[in-house]
Amino acid sequence: MERKIAIIGAGVSGLLACKYTLENGFKPIVFEARSGIGGVWSQTIESTKLQTPKSFYQFSDFAWPNSVTETFPDHNKVMEYLQAYAAHFNLFPSIKFDTKVTSIDRLVPSDEDEHSWDLWGGTGKPFSSSGKWNVTVQEARNVSSATEAYQVDFVILCIGRYSDLPNTPDFPMNKGPEVFDGKVLHSMNDDLAAELINGKRVTVIGFQKSAVDVAAEVANRNGVRYPCTLLFKTVHWMVPDYFLWSTFRSLNRWTELIIHKPGEGFFSWLLALSLSPLLWLSSKVVESCLKWTFPLKKYNMIPGHSFLNQISSCMFTVLPRNFYDRVQGGGLSLMKSRSFTFCKNGLVIDGETTPLVTDIVIFATGYKSDEKLKNIFKSTYFQKQITGSSAPLYREGIHPQIPQLAILGYADSPSILRTTEMRSKCLAHFLAGNSNLPTIKEMEHNVMNWEKSMRLYAGESYRRSCVSVLLQKYSNDQLCKDMGCNSKKEKMVFG
Ligand SMILES: Cc1cc2nc3c(=O)[nH]c(=O)nc-3n(C[C@H](O)[C@H](O)[C@H](O)COP(=O)(O)OP(=O)(O)OC[C@H]3O[C@@H](n4cnc5c(N)ncnc54)[C@H](O)[C@@H]3O)c2cc1C
Repeated sequence: MERKIAIIGAGVSGLLACKYTLENGFKPIVFEARSGIGGVWSQTIESTKLQTPKSFYQFSDFAWPNSVTETFPDHNKVMEYLQAYAAHFNLFPSIKFDTKVTSIDRLVPSDEDEHSWDLWGGTGKPFSSSGKWNVTVQEARNVSSATEAYQVDFVILCIGRYSDLPNTPDFPMNKGPEVFDGKVLHSMNDDLAAELINGKRVTVIGFQKSAVDVAAEVANRNGVRYPCTLLFKTVHWMVPDYFLWSTFRSLNRWTELIIHKPGEGFFSWLLALSLSPLLWLSSKVVESCLKWTFPLKKYNMIPGHSFLNQISSCMFTVLPRNFYDRVQGGGLSLMKSRSFTFCKNGLVIDGETTPLVTDIVIFATGYKSDEKLKNIFKSTYFQKQITGSSAPLYREGIHPQIPQLAILGYADSPSILRTTEMRSKCLAHFLAGNSNLPTIKEMEHNVMNWEKSMRLYAGESYRRSCVSVLLQKYSNDQLCKDMGCNSKKEKMVFG
């Protein structure tokens, strides 16, 4: 019997899921709300470029063309690369563009008791003879269009973590954007165009990659005449791109020995324990180099957490070129504050006596990825499995309590493309009946073990659904083991 698979999203993750399911003999249908592939790369600000070196953000069977010579290609080149990949593996015919999935609902026989299962979906298998998913879709650009339903045997959610549902803070009544005479945008807005920003006083909120990129771009355009303000709560370590390149290069089997790994044996544990001072030392060396290279002290930009904490929680922010030159030159002003509210002509900032007069406020404060994921489920039972601090995913792809479904691209990592490719291969292998899942209890135990290891290095910065730089290789080894291959024999500098 032909098993039907629905893939939701045609960004990097959806393309990978599509490629590997096709390769394993399935005929997946990919629903994509936008008119094209690429997800985040198809709609971003002009200055966005890869912050992962391109050789680490590369499909294992489809290299970057020789014409792309830079280590960190810009978003246009990433898009061309993804288009070429999709064309090469003939993925386009499987994709239904401009089609938004409004909900998914699991149809089960009335006598099914999912709470008493020991095995995922009752059998531990990807497909069930009775359970199906109902996928409801609608024309993406016409909210009043008729809905259509598809019944499928398995759903792969690839809806992305850094897109669609903006995360903006709540404000007390009469202290939010409604009282502000200027314009309020989110970094994902299409109208974040140059004309809008030119000659305007702009304040960017946040301190992650999008925030510093947007602020640098605005400062570039407006110069010292209309300085841009970057307003943030917490400072993170920002590293120059050449530095990141060498960090990635230094990750090999030797560095892996220094860290505690989930489920490690006694000797591994002992070795990691005895070598742990090296890890602490290298973190301190990096911090000293950054403090020495950039005027962090002068601008009160030394983070309260260690560099190790930060890379262990998947927070990588590449310092835009000439960032501190712009600060020193007066085109960019850095402001740290716990909170702020809006007033008629700008922002009232906690600890400041006068309001910050501004014309445009751009929130670069991320996305509500958990909520987006939760909202796609019709059943409150499944919604509740997602809430909390992100979904506890076995092998960062399978929720032990949600059968016949996988989530790809949700776990952050230094190269989402690499990790998702490995997971897609592994998932397709499982779908083709070539591997099994452990019991639900074992999966949950495994998730907890990973969490413990990650917390050890991430400390207070810990967030779920992240495979840190240090554990990426080990994570791939686990996936490889599931598929019966030995990753240690493969040529893999990283992941
Ligand atoms: C500015 C920026 C820079 C980045 N740089 C890097 C980097 O250097 N290295 C790195 O590893 N990662 C980077 N990332 C992370 C990036 O998100 C991933 O690398 C990867 O592109 C994510 O792909 P995805 O397919 O999982 O998600 P997305 O790219 O978000 O794609 C999700 C797709 O799903 C579609 N979709 C969502 N909901 C629905 C629905 N209900 N119905 C139908 N379709 C739906 C969306 O339209 C979208 O096309 C960056 C992200 C951003 C925002």
